[in-house]
Amino acid sequence: MKDPFFSETILDWYARNGRDLPWRRTRDPYAIWISEIILQQTRIAQGTAYWERFMARFPDVETLAEADEDEVLRLWEGLGYYSRARNLHAAAKQIAAAGSFPDTLDGIRSLRGIGDYTAAAIGSIAFGLDAAVLDGNVYRVLSRYFGIATPVGSTAAKKEFSDLARELLPPGKAADFNQGIMDFGAIQCTPVSPACGTCPLSGSCRAFKTDRTGILPVKREAKAASVRHFSYVYLRSGGMTAFRKRPAGDIWQGLWEPLLFESPDGTGALPEWILTLSPVLLREGFRHQLTHRTLLTDFYRAETEEKPELPEGYRWIKEQDLDRFGKPRLVEILLEILEGKD
Ligand code: SF4
Repeated sequence: MKDPFFSETILDWYARNGRDLPWRRTRDPYAIWISEIILQQTRIAQGTAYWERFMARFPDVETLAEADEDEVLRLWEGLGYYSRARNLHAAAKQIAAAGSFPDTLDGIRSLRGIGDYTAAAIGSIAFGLDAAVLDGNVYRVLSRYFGIATPVGSTAAKKEFSDLARELLPPGKAADFNQGIMDFGAIQCTPVSPACGTCPLSGSCRAFKTDRTGILPVKREAKAASVRHFSYVYLRSGGMTAFRKRPAGDIWQGLWEPLLFESPDGTGALPEWILTLSPVLLREGFRHQLTHRTLLTDFYRAETEEKPELPEGYRWIKEQDLDRFGKPRLVEILLEILEGKD
């Protein structure tokens, strides 16, 4: 081990301060896998309720494998990054076909939607494999404690930090060490105002000793978010409304939405056939932030007695059945505006 003091302090800290989370009370790889995927882009407070709902509805991999994709996506509503749910569903089918959950790092990594981090997390926690995890918390703790200024997000950093994490891993204790260092980063060595005053590592922490906790870890410059201009039209006719399942190749694949018209700058988006229905503007320029994009959306309602022919991909669905379709959060918000809840 490269630095026994560091590793033992993390283990000791974890034994006293680790968070009691429902998926930590099991070694079931399925339950751990679901928690890891949910928590990839979601905070624990929000993710826990989703994990509990997911496990109640799909208690094992077979149930998930046999489920309808729409139902999986519906349960995912509000979490965002829907490709996670689709990959989860596809991977459940892979596991069900193989007959059991893979128990090697390569086997776990061969599942859809699983990269190095998730494979190491599941491998160490469920199977006790000596694999080191690397997430934002781990980067932060290692960068500060060892005083490493390599910009996080670069290929060089990935190699440097994963080598270091591997060297620090106490053999046979990967589960506690991995969860410990991640909790330590989330609770003690936080991004802003780390609790150095009560930190058991402060005596040998390079960032603390050189007053660089506000500088480390160094981040690569983020790309500016691009802007897209959407116009949604909720078209109603005889208790039905026009919706489509979003196609592949763009955000929100497989989720449902009302008539969408997109334009480069937000002007002239609505086609003539919609304008003849005198659409009512309910909300203008509604801002919705995704990780790499800002969506600015105008939202309209229109009503017609005769059902017009719909653009390709759209179909009429009963308004009373809308709850059965998985929708992106933006569409949920628009429906709330329509119902006057906003
Ligand atoms: S002393 Fe501060 S910066 Fe260093 S590991 Fe502890 S909390 Fe993090």
